[in-house]
Amino acid sequence: MSNVEQTLSIIKPDAVERNLIEEIKNIFIKNNLNIKNSKKIHITKDEAAEFYKVHQSKPFYNDLCGYLSSGPIVVMILEGKSAVAENRKLMGATNPKDAQENTIRKLYGISIDKNSVHGSDSLENAKKEINFFFKN
Ligand code: UDP
Ligand code: MG
Repeated sequence: MSNVEQTLSIIKPDAVERNLIEEIKNIFIKNNLNIKNSKKIHITKDEAAEFYKVHQSKPFYNDLCGYLSSGPIVVMILEGKSAVAENRKLMGATNPKDAQENTIRKLYGISIDKNSVHGSDSLENAKKEINFFFKN
């Protein structure tokens, strides 16, 4: 099948803390995004800072890195047709208030910072982000 891609998804600390791992994984599975690899980890603030380096000039950068390293997260490789765009569609807008009905962020997000999930925004970044967490 053409157009099969891989993308990186993260279930963020607010969702892990509320035991939403299975609910969120089921949304991916039901929408034909196969979970090729998954691990629960707890990263350091330095690792979060490296992961979110593209945002280093943003005013929310420090809080964002503190947040992603504040508790366990689940990092996953999702695979499927147009996986990068499909995952972004299932996630919904960055701010849960703006997210469409039935998106993950609308269903589970608490606020713009505690928005439950991360997803790569391009195929190029997906490759970098997968390599960041799953390099072998
Ligand atoms: N974020 C934040 N405040 C903002 C914008 C973003 O705390 O004003 C956080 C939010 O958790 C978001 C992450 O920074 O998911 C990365 O921002 P980006 O613009 O890349 O949003 P995303 O790609 O996650 O939708
Ligand atoms: Mg982003």
